[in-house]
Amino acid sequence: MFDSLQDKMESAFKNLKGEGKLTEINVAQSIKEIRRALVAADVNYKIAKEFTDKIKDEALGSKNILKSVKPGELMVKIVMDEMTTLMGGQATGINVKGNPGVVLVAGLQGSGKTTFSGKLALFLKEKKSMKPLLVACDVYRPAAIDQLTVLAEQIGAAVYKEPENKNPVSIAQNAIAYAKGHSHDVVIVDTAGRLAIDEVMMTEIRNIKSGINPTETLFVVDSMTGQDAVNTALAFNDVIDYDGVVLTKLDGDTRGGAALSVKYTVGKPIKFASTGEKLNTLDVFHPERMAQRILGMGDIVSFVEKAQDQFDEEEAKRLEKKIKRNKFDYNDFLQQVNQIKKMGDLKSLMGMIPGMGKAIKDIDINDGAFSKVESIIYSMTEDERLKPEILNMSRKRRIAMGCGHNIHEINMFVKQFEQMRKMMTQMSKGKGMERMMQQMQ
Ligand code: GDP
Repeated sequence: MFDSLQDKMESAFKNLKGEGKLTEINVAQSIKEIRRALVAADVNYKIAKEFTDKIKDEALGSKNILKSVKPGELMVKIVMDEMTTLMGGQATGINVKGNPGVVLVAGLQGSGKTTFSGKLALFLKEKKSMKPLLVACDVYRPAAIDQLTVLAEQIGAAVYKEPENKNPVSIAQNAIAYAKGHSHDVVIVDTAGRLAIDEVMMTEIRNIKSGINPTETLFVVDSMTGQDAVNTALAFNDVIDYDGVVLTKLDGDTRGGAALSVKYTVGKPIKFASTGEKLNTLDVFHPERMAQRILGMGDIVSFVEKAQDQFDEEEAKRLEKKIKRNKFDYNDFLQQVNQIKKMGDLKSLMGMIPGMGKAIKDIDINDGAFSKVESIIYSMTEDERLKPEILNMSRKRRIAMGCGHNIHEINMFVKQFEQMRKMMTQMSKGKGMERMMQQMQ
């Protein structure tokens, strides 16, 4: 995410390395580079100029206050704070209160509206224990209705559709009435994609909005489209005065312009960031965390939150007991792998670890990394999975045949598993973790 912007920012800060303090000269040099980096990331020049002017004032104003802080670090902190402000400061939640709450989703065709509608339904179901109803209001493309139906099935949510009805306002109104009668507490209305210049379609979305009076109207935009995204955001806001923006495809090769300028230009907060095609890749947008990521400082808070989402205390206790008795088996291992996979796309997860994003940017990491391990374990008998110690040579040979990997690979994996198991048991018995933590304090 934002690799090129990250690189250029880093080089702007490098200028200050070795400098004793911030001066008119070295600040001016860094500022120039930062401005260039922003413009190259497709941030509008006026915004980039205003942003860097602010940073300059801050940097020169603060040079005498914090003598103990290195100039480069001080500059990073100033840029991070300003960037956070530029993107809206605080995270903003969505309003889904109502009987039912109604979310209207609008945007250009292909921006990721339907995918987002599915992701939002899953988010509200899992994080807020709600019972969402997805509504297919694209009366122009039958395929869009099918797409929403498939998504709904995947997440176990209900979908409302009227394939014969060509009036999206009445479909949405009927859906809300249906939701009331079927105890759905939130309705997500996925509308047809439209071009901002298409008057008829823009009138239609305005009519849908006034016809259903949503509690929340969201505008979905493809972040890969840079300044165009911001122009479209303005055009839609004129028509439907939405409450917030959803940035999609942040996992792609985006330059950062949309994320950095949309709040400033339209005055509406970015509420969600979508980072993949999988349904669990939706995050509440936190300006500060995003600024940290842009500046290459990772986003450890989001990483930990994702991990916590998957954390089950009962399960952890059960595992701890098994580990202590050296009984951690291949089934437990498989379960752990599945939990990691549920956290989302592996590469974007690793990118959240400070310093990691850049290191792995050219490496192809995907969930396939697990598939070898999984295929090996799936080729074991239940007995072998529960009692790793019975794996002798002939059993390993049979497993190799079953999963299509060679015996050397099976040996390696078994050896690694045994080492890991031993280490975990030692740590749990000797309270190794606690001791390590104490030493760190
Ligand atoms: P709509 O026409 O606005 O409803 O757009 P869709 O939801 O059909 O999405 C268009 C394409 O973008 C599909 O192929 C989606 O899988 C893909 N897509 C949507 N959101 C994301 C995202 O956050 N990241 C990536 N990589 N692809 C996405």
